[in-house]
Amino acid sequence: MQIFSLREFAPPGDVTALRDEVRALIAAHEHRWAPEQRANPWFSFDPEFSRALGDAGFLGMTWPKQYGGHERHALERYVVIEELLANGAPSGLHWIADRQTGPLLVKYGTERIKAKYLPGMAAGEIYACIGLSEPNSGSDLASVRTFAEKTAEGWRVNGQKVWTSGAHKSHAALTLLRTEAGSERQAGLSQLMIDLDLPGVTIRPIIDMTGQHHFNEIFFEDVLVPLDALVGEEGRGWAQVTAELALERSGPERYLSSHMLLEALIDHAGPSPAPALAELIGRLTAEMWTLRQMSLATAAKLAAGEDPMVEAAIVKDLGNAYEQAMPRLVQAVVEDVDFADDTRLARLLKFILVQSPSYSLRGGTPEVLRGIIARGLGLR
Ligand SMILES: Cc1cc2nc3c(=O)[nH]c(=O)nc-3n(C[C@H](O)[C@H](O)[C@H](O)COP(=O)(O)OP(=O)(O)OC[C@H]3O[C@@H](n4cnc5c(N)ncnc54)[C@H](O)[C@@H]3O)c2cc1C
Repeated sequence: MQIFSLREFAPPGDVTALRDEVRALIAAHEHRWAPEQRANPWFSFDPEFSRALGDAGFLGMTWPKQYGGHERHALERYVVIEELLANGAPSGLHWIADRQTGPLLVKYGTERIKAKYLPGMAAGEIYACIGLSEPNSGSDLASVRTFAEKTAEGWRVNGQKVWTSGAHKSHAALTLLRTEAGSERQAGLSQLMIDLDLPGVTIRPIIDMTGQHHFNEIFFEDVLVPLDALVGEEGRGWAQVTAELALERSGPERYLSSHMLLEALIDHAGPSPAPALAELIGRLTAEMWTLRQMSLATAAKLAAGEDPMVEAAIVKDLGNAYEQAMPRLVQAVVEDVDFADDTRLARLLKFILVQSPSYSLRGGTPEVLRGIIARGLGLR
């Protein structure tokens, strides 16, 4: 039976100096950031900060230098990401390009596509989004219906995507489409990099429960996309997307979404907290540390070229449970918090209570993750 084995997390170079460098960059920009912006930092936006990260060489860290990357180690990148999230640095604009779309283009993109997007992504100036979900195919991506017909002029795209984070801020969407007429389920799917300013593309906002606009619907009506915007092989979209999802599941973003609240709680508790408060802080810290070891070990396996799909699903499921439980546990123990107050703790608690239900939806629901884990354990 498969077990969760730990692998040593050993980035090259001086990790302490690297952490200090990222912290100094954050310190130079953090005066602009409200508490709510610092909570859930990979969904909040600051273009100036994204550009500063690009200038400092902290985006596209592992990509080839010829495309604006820095050819650094994947675990050095992990250290940078951990610092950004643990310090609540708004990273939403460059997040998808740096984490997912850029690496996919490096691996599968045509030369024209690589040259067109990667240097700008590494500079923190070109942003991307992910077009997977559709109105009738959310978790069940194999039922994707948006269609791209191959014509002499290019791919002609028709259909609709939904829940697309950051589409209204993005330059392009890496989109999963059906490219083979009459194909069903996992067969006949491909990925296209679609510029969002093309004629026939309409982006409509969806406002979330916190009142923020980060979700969108994207409509494609006879959108003509160049043939070489195909990313990877025609018909291999399913395998590419599932590999991509495995990569996005085990990072520190899966247990640090509520981290600003833990920090505010520790500040609120002061040097001699009541026993229940001390116990909660101890419990949350111990859980966070355990999740961190699991996430680090999974990152080390990915960096070693292994395929820890089950471990990644476990990290995401346990991490989401932890970060979702935190606001309710804090609310139960801190009795004097008044949501009308302007304190950091009150503002963060109010915001994260409303925001946290989404943590376990994005990137795979618990049911879907547990299905993957069960298969890995040989139970289905
Ligand atoms: C904050 C956030 C950001 C997102 N960003 C993006 C984005 O940028 N791009 C994008 O494409 N999508 C994005 N999504 C969409 C998300 O990843 C899911 O695909 C989508 O929310 C689920 O689709 P649905 O609403 O149709 O629910 P469904 O897929 O219909 O799920 C409904 C319920 O059925 C369960 N279920 C579904 N399939 C199975 C199964 N096989 N076995 C057991 N149970 C199952 C689910 O767990 C869930 O409880 C985002 C979602 C959130 C919350």
